[in-house]
Amino acid sequence: MGGVLVITGASRGIGAATAKLAGSRGWAVAVNYNASAEQAGQVVAAIGASGGKAVAIKADVSTAAGARLLFAETVRQLGPVTGLFNNAGIVHTYTAITDMTEDMLAEHWRINITSQFLCAGEAVRRMSTKSGGTGGAIVNMSSRAAVIGGANGMLAYGASKGAIDTFTHGLSIEAAPQGIRVNAVRPGLIATDIHDATGDKERLKKLVGLVPQGRVGTAEEVGETVLWLLSPQASYVTGSLVDIGGGR
Ligand code: NAP
Repeated sequence: MGGVLVITGASRGIGAATAKLAGSRGWAVAVNYNASAEQAGQVVAAIGASGGKAVAIKADVSTAAGARLLFAETVRQLGPVTGLFNNAGIVHTYTAITDMTEDMLAEHWRINITSQFLCAGEAVRRMSTKSGGTGGAIVNMSSRAAVIGGANGMLAYGASKGAIDTFTHGLSIEAAPQGIRVNAVRPGLIATDIHDATGDKERLKKLVGLVPQGRVGTAEEVGETVLWLLSPQASYVTGSLVDIGGGR
C-alpha cells in the first residue's frame, strides 16, 4: 500500500485510528483537524514513532477555503494526493422534529455533507487521469443511521448520511472514467466520543443490546475496512456502501 492519503477529522475517533493504521502501512498521511490541535499532534507523533510519515493540517473542511487549503498544504508537504477518507462529521444533542432550528439543520448539512462534496472536488481535480493525475480512491463516511433513520433525536444526522449514500453512488459513476473509485462505509455503534454530543453519556450502553454481535465496534475495525477500500485489493469495488455494524 502507499501514496498520499488525506483524512478529514483525523484528530480523534475513527479518523485518528485510521490515520495510525494507514501510517503503519506505507501511506503518507495528512491528519486534518479543526479544533483539536493537541490530539492531531499526538496522531502525527504516533505515526512518526512507528516509522511512518504524517503531517497535521488545520482546516475547517466545511468551507471551500478550508478544503482548498487542506489539499494545497498536503501536496506541498507530502506530494500528489492519491487517496481521500472523507471522515469529518458531527452529531447534535438529541432534538425532536418540533425543536429543530434552521441553524442546527444548516450545520448538519454543512459539516456532514458540504465538506464531503468540497473535499471530493479537490481530490478528483488532482487525481483524475483526465487532468494528468494517476487516479486514486475516495472513501466517504456514511452511517447505518442512513438506513435506520435517526428517529427520536437524530433525524438530521440520519438524513445527512442518507445524502452521502446517494452522493457516493453518483460520484462513483462520474469518477470511474477518471481512474477514481468511490465507496462509502456505514458504521453502526462505534466506541468514540461522538456519542456524548447527543447529551446521553450512556448511549452506547443503552443501544448495544440491539446489535446481533452483542458488542459495539472499535474505530480500528472501521479503519481496516477503509484501508481495504483504498487499497489495490479493492480494485474492482466502486459505488459500494459497506456496512460495519455487527449485524445491525
Ligand atoms: P469524533 O470522535 O467526534 O471525531 C470527529 C472528528 O471530526 C474530529 O477529529 C473533529 O476534529 C473532526 N471535525 C469535525 N468538524 C470538522 C470540521 N469542520 N473540519 C475538520 N474536522 C472536523 O467522531 P467519530 O465517531 O470518530 O466520527 C467520525 C465520522 O464517523 C463522522 O462522520 C461520524 O458521523 C461517522 N460515524 C461515527 C459512528 C460512531 O458510532 N462513532 C458511526 C457511524 C458513523 P476537531 O476536534 O479537530 O474539530
